[in-house]
Amino acid sequence: MEYLLEVKNLKMHFPVYGGIFKRQTGSVFAVDGVSFEIRPGETLGLVGESGCGKTTVGRAIIRLHEPDGDVLFMEKSIKDLSGKALVDIRREMQMVFQDPFESLNSRHTIGEILEEPFIIHNAGNLKFRQQQVKKLLDLVQISKDAINRFPHEFSGGQRQRIGIARAIALNPKLVILDEPVSALDVSIQSQIINLLLQLQNEMNLSYLFIAHDLAVVKHVSDRIAVMYLGKIVELTDAARIYEKPLHPYTRALLSAIPYPDPDIKRKREILTGDVPSPLNPPSGCSFHTRCPNAIDFCSQEEPALVAGPESNGLEHLVACHLVC
Ligand code: SF4
Repeated sequence: MEYLLEVKNLKMHFPVYGGIFKRQTGSVFAVDGVSFEIRPGETLGLVGESGCGKTTVGRAIIRLHEPDGDVLFMEKSIKDLSGKALVDIRREMQMVFQDPFESLNSRHTIGEILEEPFIIHNAGNLKFRQQQVKKLLDLVQISKDAINRFPHEFSGGQRQRIGIARAIALNPKLVILDEPVSALDVSIQSQIINLLLQLQNEMNLSYLFIAHDLAVVKHVSDRIAVMYLGKIVELTDAARIYEKPLHPYTRALLSAIPYPDPDIKRKREILTGDVPSPLNPPSGCSFHTRCPNAIDFCSQEEPALVAGPESNGLEHLVACHLVC
């Protein structure tokens, strides 16, 4: 099996209703034809500004939304699964949410929160479940005293560790990490990233790592896909995207990363204008309203995501008329 996950032409358009009869007046094009694959044990970083649709992609994969297009998990389509089959597949695909304060039920103890996945999936008796809860706390380096305590008694970093423990409870193959460190202090972010890398090694996990900037995904990703207004505009090997970014939007995101050496000056590429509304995306290349290189043709024809120049057999896809 080459790919654990295959996302094919995923589209998620949310209807917008208005008027006194609440008729559909338009659609928000949150995700508009996204395709990628994730190999077993691989991390794909999915990066883009707020509102570009990256979280919707993650939620659509685990069927918290009902998208168009197809999602294949271990070579089987999960698009039309329902009932027990859907519950079973969710055992293999878990999600860690951005906000560790909201994602844990404040009325349940940590023991109850970590036991819940085993109860939902009917896995083992009480003794087995209690052993597993202790093992999970060990794995995420939280003291076993946590079992009888409540989420509000923990810091943001500790809560995110507990959220990760819940996600890996049933030995999933794929974990979707939706901005798992963006709500945390910088000093805690690296600890959580190191924990995620350690768990990936020990459990052969695959990750879809969603983030809003390229700095966060740099050290965790094998490949990176950059999203803008519901579409992937560049996708390649992680090292290559930092060395040889091709799309103007990727270059602007990279130039916004602070450089640790103050003696090295880098040219900051500042994007002008606001991100257009996904309710009414621009014609042609959706980036043309902010692109410093745009020509007239860019607003007329949408560029396809195709292999860029000098790929030399390496996967390096880009959607820009002036690059390909
Ligand atoms: Fe810029 Fe045109 Fe390329 Fe779009 S197609 S990124 S507007 S140069």
